[in-house]
Amino acid sequence: MEKIIDENKQGEALDLQGKGANTKKLFIESYGCQMNFSDSEVVASILANEGYNTTKNLEDADLVLVNTCSIREKAEITVRKRLEKYQAVKRKQNPNMKVGVLGCMAERLKSKFLEEEKIVDLVVGPDAYKDIPNLLSEVEEGRNAVNVILSKEETYGDISPVRLQSNGVTAFVSITRGCDNMCTFCVVPFTRGRERSRDPQSILEEVNDLAQKGFKEITLLGQNVDSYLWYGGGLKKDFAKASEMAKATAVNFAQLMDMVARAQPKMRIRFSTSNPQDMTLDVIEVMAKHRNICNYIHLPVQSGSDRILKLMNRQHTVAEYKKLIDDIKALIPNIGISQDMITGFPTETEEDHQATLELMKYVRYDYGFMFYYSERPGTMAERKMEDDIPLEVKKRRLQEVIDLQRDLSRDNLKNYLGQTVEVLIEKTSKKNEDEWSGRNDQNIVTILPKENYKVGDFVNVIVEECTTGTLMGRPVGLSENN
Ligand code: SF4
Repeated sequence: MEKIIDENKQGEALDLQGKGANTKKLFIESYGCQMNFSDSEVVASILANEGYNTTKNLEDADLVLVNTCSIREKAEITVRKRLEKYQAVKRKQNPNMKVGVLGCMAERLKSKFLEEEKIVDLVVGPDAYKDIPNLLSEVEEGRNAVNVILSKEETYGDISPVRLQSNGVTAFVSITRGCDNMCTFCVVPFTRGRERSRDPQSILEEVNDLAQKGFKEITLLGQNVDSYLWYGGGLKKDFAKASEMAKATAVNFAQLMDMVARAQPKMRIRFSTSNPQDMTLDVIEVMAKHRNICNYIHLPVQSGSDRILKLMNRQHTVAEYKKLIDDIKALIPNIGISQDMITGFPTETEEDHQATLELMKYVRYDYGFMFYYSERPGTMAERKMEDDIPLEVKKRRLQEVIDLQRDLSRDNLKNYLGQTVEVLIEKTSKKNEDEWSGRNDQNIVTILPKENYKVGDFVNVIVEECTTGTLMGRPVGLSENN
């Protein structure tokens, strides 16, 4: 597909296939994980080819799409509230607007969504976005439209994303789709299907294109990036059946990272999300080898209790996780590590909870994403386990995890005082117009005075203050990475 000018240039976008100015207006918003935000950029690109320009005004939109998350009940409640908002706008200001739901909630509810939410005209699952133009023509003819078929091949590798809400400096590049891990609490395997990896050549093309456009940092994205494996297309689980040639020329995650790091030595590279059971040391060795691969890993663990990890179907023990952490810190001593934790999983005892707190103290995470267990329809845990931990206990344990993480974050960030860190400037600080905000190599938000620097500069900053989540400092010149 030919490149489409990004959405920032409202109304100026031209359909490069010479169909004249894009006149239809698309309002698209995303909830949930980075995969959803990346997918919305793919959808915007597909619709740009159908004559749609993006708009930030709901009232002006011909088509309103919400990319939904289903990871917790709260995420779905948020979406239903947005649909009420659309309903109000449709009734008062924009009677002709069409409404579509995308993403994991669309995949989980399928056509039931149309019954439950009358405002909805089309329901499209994460693997069916290329069918949106056809579905829209069905809607135009007055029929509701649904496509929630999960694919064995689809990676959208042939689509050039339209960068939405982009700062022109950082971008997501999706490398895999789906997940085979079947953690008992998680809906993702049901809403995003089986694991399949994208052709490394199309990934390199996208990265080179981003570099050419002046982007300075990319995040290689997937539900489970460590199990990336390209062997010519198809599902990860069918690799064993592949030809000897395909196996011999297969590309795994470490090799892909090495290829991307070499292709764009000045481009900062991050990746997300990892799963400890699939992470291999060759990935860490490649990180240690390349200066432009950031020294930061998001390594969800969910619990510090072997008994709970087993019930969650996490394919590793606490000891194995600790060994991995030790190996990572041995190879990259100044690594930044963040976590995901779930408190109050079915049958979790006080002892299990204490084990989680002990593990956090052992790893000394920089920060984390912490939630109490939210039972999800259709998951193994929902089908096989009673959600037996009282809400107030779930919340109390969550607060203890959050409090401990705050202490760890404060102590870890204090270690940066007096140090010089390299910061990529991304935007104006939320708190102060005269200050820039960016992140250091370890993904820690860092604030500095604007002086003569600009968005996209790599700046060396001497850290003078810190909070539990932010570093503040004085710039001492552009870094050699500029
Ligand atoms: S690794 Fe587990 S938690 Fe993560 S997306 Fe896959 S099934 Fe869900």
